[in-house]
Amino acid sequence: MDCLFCKIISGEVPAEVVREGERTLAFRDINPQAPVHVLVIPKDHHPDFAALAADPELLAEVAAETGRVAEEEGVAGSGYRVVFNTGSGAGQTVFHAHAHVLGGRGLNWPPG
Ligand code: 5GP
Ligand code: ZN
Repeated sequence: MDCLFCKIISGEVPAEVVREGERTLAFRDINPQAPVHVLVIPKDHHPDFAALAADPELLAEVAAETGRVAEEEGVAGSGYRVVFNTGSGAGQTVFHAHAHVLGGRGLNWPPG
């Protein structure tokens, strides 16, 4: 399967990994939108959030990792945002489910 994030998991495409779990990987976004911008992905390929949510245990592992990333990156206290863009109309460009962890600056609401 021609999936960029599966290639990051296999090591075929390099990435700056910040955490690795048995079933998850966290790495820095190549085009950061905030001082902290880390992507947390399941190692199993799921095309989007809805597909990942069909495996609640795995979704919970991804969610737990976002919290650990926020702690380690120093934004848990100041506030951060966890985002799953789902579908191209919402800005999803890589169709391997991923949580964006964004922080280190003020974040507006509603988002664009
Ligand atoms: P989406 O737009 O699907 O919600 O998020 C995909 C994210 O993947 C984008 O923020 C984009 O900058 C990031 N991205 C795209 N290609 C690469 C890459 O090769 N390496 C890394 N680390 N991030 C990437
Ligand atoms: Zn994939």
